[in-house]
Amino acid sequence: MSFTVTVCAAIFGGAAAAFVPRLAHRLAVPRGSRPRSTCADCTADLPTWVRAGASCDCARAPVWTLTTGALVGGVLGATIGPAPLLVVLLPAALLGILLALIDLRCLRLPDPLVGLLAVGTVLPLSAVALVTGEPADLMRSTLGAVLSGSVYLIIALLPGGGLGLGDVKLATVLGFTLGFVGWPAVVVGLVAPHLINGPVAVVLLLTRRAGRRTALPLGPALLTGALLGCLIT
Ligand SMILES: [Zn+2]
Repeated sequence: MSFTVTVCAAIFGGAAAAFVPRLAHRLAVPRGSRPRSTCADCTADLPTWVRAGASCDCARAPVWTLTTGALVGGVLGATIGPAPLLVVLLPAALLGILLALIDLRCLRLPDPLVGLLAVGTVLPLSAVALVTGEPADLMRSTLGAVLSGSVYLIIALLPGGGLGLGDVKLATVLGFTLGFVGWPAVVVGLVAPHLINGPVAVVLLLTRRAGRRTALPLGPALLTGALLGCLIT
């Protein structure tokens, strides 16, 4: 483990995460709606996309978002070290935090952002595989994406599967990166989201904060599972 890389990655993660709340607030809108230009809570104007800290003057300081950004950056830096994979995964993780916040707010994973995550991971990881002379990595990544996407598509098609097509698309994109890391990462990425969301659903039911028919966002669990897959293996 490189101490310098870990600290730099944690600082990058925390600092970049400071810009996520405003973006998440503006982009967390129902399907087909334009991005928000006024605050959903106090109706104040949100004139810019770029703002560090709280999404609006009325919002609390985004301590959890910043902590998550620093923590995710730090553990990625500590686990991966100074490798091309870290350069790809750090911005991808920030995009993941943005997607998770939007999914938590409005149960959506906007296609343009999932597409951006796809471009930001598939292209550079493919380039790394080809430049380092490891085309097998590229083949495994592709198979990981196909396997992950297929499994989640089947779950989405099952009655009561509780999954949206946004979840299937995100799982497919994440499967590519997990495949690049290795087959154990793909397995963790497939299993962990359910181990995360299952207990969360039980707690919400027991505390009556959700009913049997309440839709729960799966995006945050998918992204956390993918992070665990990248770290554990
Ligand atoms: Zn406000």
